[in-house]
Amino acid sequence: MANDRQILLNQLQTLLGPGGLLHDAAARRVYSLDSSHLSLGRPWAVALPETPDQLAQVVGLCAKARVPVVCRGSGTGLSGGAVPCDGALVLGAARMNGASRVLESDRSIRVEVGVLNDQVTTLATACGLHFAPDPSSQAVATIGGNIAENAGGPHCLRYGVTLHHLRRLQWVDAQGKSWSTGRGLPAERGLDLTSLLCGSEGTLGVVTEADLNLVPNPEFVITMLASFLI
Ligand SMILES: Cc1cc2nc3c(=O)[nH]c(=O)nc-3n(C[C@H](O)[C@H](O)[C@H](O)COP(=O)(O)OP(=O)(O)OC[C@H]3O[C@@H](n4cnc5c(N)ncnc54)[C@H](O)[C@@H]3O)c2cc1C
Repeated sequence: MANDRQILLNQLQTLLGPGGLLHDAAARRVYSLDSSHLSLGRPWAVALPETPDQLAQVVGLCAKARVPVVCRGSGTGLSGGAVPCDGALVLGAARMNGASRVLESDRSIRVEVGVLNDQVTTLATACGLHFAPDPSSQAVATIGGNIAENAGGPHCLRYGVTLHHLRRLQWVDAQGKSWSTGRGLPAERGLDLTSLLCGSEGTLGVVTEADLNLVPNPEFVITMLASFLI
């Protein structure tokens, strides 16, 4: 068993390169918690892939070695979904932060899941667009975490929650196989897998990339104050 773990450790280190696999006591402690303050144990290691392909290979290697995998964005979740059990591998998205150019005519953008919610709007601002779902944690929460929690905020009263802004998801199943789901794609026939994955807290698959809807900025913004007498 210990020998199997050493083999997996070597494989992951070779795959992920310098800084891609954290195994020291401090990292294992930091990644044992999220914002829920729940605690289940210490992860065995933390993998930080840089590409969707690397991420898929990490999941595949862990599946073969029968090591549980727990996904993590920025760890701001309040429901404990990113809290690992003893011996699990935490799969973090911190280094997966690539994004395409904003498609202005299509009002969309493709991002890797480690991109922060606020960064999407920053990228879209020059085109007069923004990403509508606005959890209060948007300055630090990742798009992957937003999707897994179907996050929302005050703007969602007008525009809908994260699910309403997803066009296509690239994701990896428990064996490390990659899939695409979204409107019009073959994997979507019969089952609405995008809706199933969104809000599943990382229990059904690991999302690696998302095509997001952007909405036009309002022409003007006014601030109102209403007082209520009881
Ligand atoms: C101060 C504060 C304010 C908040 N305000 C709001 C709010 O207004 N609205 C709201 O909805 N939430 C809010 N939250 C909760 C939290 O910020 C959101 O749920 C956010 O979407 C989590 O993103 P994260 O990157 O931190 O994800 P994490 O906490 O790292 O993970 C959350 C869940 O997503 C899963 N996950 C992460 N990445 C992936 C992936 N790539 N594929 C599959 N599963 C994945 C994890 O396994 C876990 O189950 C708040 C939290 C804090 C601390």
